[in-house]
Amino acid sequence: MKGLFPITRRKKVSTPALFASVILIIATWIFASDPDRYAVGFDVPSGDFVKETNNVSIYYLDVGQGDSELIRLPSGENILIDAGLAEGSSKLLDYLEQLGVHKIDYLIATHPHADHIGGMAQVIKQMDIGKIYLPKVADGQVPTTRVYENMLDAVEKKGLRLTQSKAGMTVYDQGDARLEFLAPLDDNYKDLNNYSIVAKLTFGKKSFLFTGDAEKESEKEMLQEFGSKLSSDVLKVGHHGSNSSTSANFLKAVAPKYAIISCGKNNDYGHPHKEVMSRLNAAKINVVRTDEQGTILITSNGTDINVKTGLPSLLTAS
Ligand SMILES: [Zn+2]
Repeated sequence: MKGLFPITRRKKVSTPALFASVILIIATWIFASDPDRYAVGFDVPSGDFVKETNNVSIYYLDVGQGDSELIRLPSGENILIDAGLAEGSSKLLDYLEQLGVHKIDYLIATHPHADHIGGMAQVIKQMDIGKIYLPKVADGQVPTTRVYENMLDAVEKKGLRLTQSKAGMTVYDQGDARLEFLAPLDDNYKDLNNYSIVAKLTFGKKSFLFTGDAEKESEKEMLQEFGSKLSSDVLKVGHHGSNSSTSANFLKAVAPKYAIISCGKNNDYGHPHKEVMSRLNAAKINVVRTDEQGTILITSNGTDINVKTGLPSLLTAS
């Protein structure tokens, strides 16, 4: 069928590999069952989350060192871009539940790294899912990780199909809202990050760019292909603020008013890197970070943009 592609996965596991997986699962279970590890003070002010009818609401969810963004469209439909780490999936589901989100109409897995797709299996298992978008990765680079396998298992069990994502696709176009993909432009990269789906949401006169972990190579291709079309009011900064991304020319073309960085407090990677922070500061862009502000909510009526912080976070220890 046009636009659909079969699930690509590794061959049957051998007995030693299966044994190793069982040990790993048990070890992970023991580790994950530590009750203090993800203690959360969870108190959602429900009045703020009543379904909007004229606005678009975007939650840049604080999932620690990872990515997850929820877009609530005026139609009541929901788009979820990435789902953070597997360890945070029950908190993510609780959060969605409290927001009154029961269906993800468009589920976008930017690229198959654990900090983006870790929570996907649980989301797919437990929620009503419309379409699922994933980039097609070159054969030799298809991951063999447990999180990737778990995601595919969940997709198969529900009888869902994956939609192969490429630059130029329009995912949603209704009323004043439009979501289109600007990357990946190629189907063969050395680094999995560059397969990242980059999505642009336009709502009225305002626009929002979601870059996954796309790095300079993909940014360069987008610049060549789309140029001024990259211009957006809000940029979800690529790769958690790593210096691998947000190249000077790309930032100049996007020229956002707000930059959102999704990263964990005191993360092991030193994200966001100081070079990226100084580029953003030099351009006088308002930077809002999930490691400092927790979950960030941006609403827009198509003319104005409102940024709200101080929301309950998913993974911040209380
Ligand atoms: Zn990442």
